[in-house]
Amino acid sequence: MATCEVCGNEYDKAMRISVGGGDAHTFDSFECAIQRLAPSCAHCGCRIVGHGTEAGGHMYCCAHCARHAGESRIKDRV
Ligand SMILES: [Zn+2]
Ligand SMILES: [Zn+2]
Repeated sequence: MATCEVCGNEYDKAMRISVGGGDAHTFDSFECAIQRLAPSCAHCGCRIVGHGTEAGGHMYCCAHCARHAGESRIKDRV
């Protein structure tokens, strides 16, 4: 039995995810893992689960958000 570190749920099939060979985190679902591990967009605040766009040291969910935040050189991958 393991306890999800996000919602505190106890679950016998909990998943353990280690990031960059560092600490291992315990979650009961991907939803909780994303909430804890995924970066959030610096413009709209949504969780970046895919590739995202990095600009000026900030992570954005898409080029649209990066542009809104003032990064004019960013283009969506085509
Ligand atoms: Zn959870
Ligand atoms: Zn965004």
